[in-house]
Amino acid sequence: MTSIAGLLAEGPTWSFEFFPPKTPEGEQNLLEVIDQLSELQPSFVSVTYGALGTTRDLTRDLVVRVNSEHRFPAMPHLTCVGHTRAELVELLEGYREAGIENVLALAGDPPADGSDPGGDFTYATQLVELVREVGDLTVAVAAFPEIHPRSPDRATDRRLLAEKLAAADFGMTQFFFDADHYRVMLHELADLDCTTPVVPGVMPFISVAGARRMSAMNNTEIPSWLQERMDAVDGDAEATRKLGVEVASELIAQLLDIGVPGVHIYAMNRATSIEEIYANLGLTSAP
Ligand SMILES: Cc1cc2nc3c(=O)[nH]c(=O)nc-3n(C[C@H](O)[C@H](O)[C@H](O)COP(=O)(O)OP(=O)(O)OC[C@H]3O[C@@H](n4cnc5c(N)ncnc54)[C@H](O)[C@@H]3O)c2cc1C
Repeated sequence: MTSIAGLLAEGPTWSFEFFPPKTPEGEQNLLEVIDQLSELQPSFVSVTYGALGTTRDLTRDLVVRVNSEHRFPAMPHLTCVGHTRAELVELLEGYREAGIENVLALAGDPPADGSDPGGDFTYATQLVELVREVGDLTVAVAAFPEIHPRSPDRATDRRLLAEKLAAADFGMTQFFFDADHYRVMLHELADLDCTTPVVPGVMPFISVAGARRMSAMNNTEIPSWLQERMDAVDGDAEATRKLGVEVASELIAQLLDIGVPGVHIYAMNRATSIEEIYANLGLTSAP
């Protein structure tokens, strides 16, 4: 049982993010991927949560299992929009009883059709407060270096982010392709007297269409040099994956030069790209 806040203090941490598969075969495959990646001795791993509770049991069962079977902690993501307070208290108390020590507290997205999701929560900060009330859990929150798509302006985004980080133990970012976005965000937070560690998230993409779609959804800029390189590999799955590894490796090297508290890699339930990134960075012998 380990608090990630303690690991960050000794940092840099290395962490991988997974999503809960919806089929037994997918779950078996992911458990094998996690076994394979455990060879790289990650500091921790995290498991996403379907907005509005769509993967509530899948996320919980996977996190509890990985947490009990491995030496590194597994951290559940948890979104609060659409949930009642009682539902979240039950889930959080269950995590504590199962020995989970860390949780990523998120708002989650409201329904795409604009309907009222119900529930008792609107913003992540409210969930951070609830986690503190339930007690004894390390709390992470999300940060968007290129500002959150629903933020009205940059100053408001940074002010609310600084307040949220002040209430949490650490932050983890949305993926980005240009290290300057992360660097500028840190300066802006420092100007607001916020020094909570924020771990950058890095995505080794495996599909050009997927990377473009997620970037558009998340406000992530794809620089023109990368657009051109994506155009050149579009339609060739292995060339695309290799480009994703190359771009992620270079970005992580730049981030390590900045002196980041950790590196969080969006694993997309696969091991090969992460093994190659480690090899590129000289963190392990080539796979
Ligand atoms: C590392 C990471 C992991 C993620 N994992 C998941 C996941 O597992 N499942 C999932 O569904 N989604 C996930 N997301 C996406 C996230 O749920 C969405 O981006 C969601 O739209 C916002 O969540 P948040 O926690 O950033 O919200 P918030 O911090 O609440 O911010 C959302 C918006 O509300 C604004 N805001 C905040 N407080 C106030 C206030 N008091 N008054 C007015 N405006 C306010 C903010 O400025 C921002 O524009 C993840 C994102 C990141 C970066």
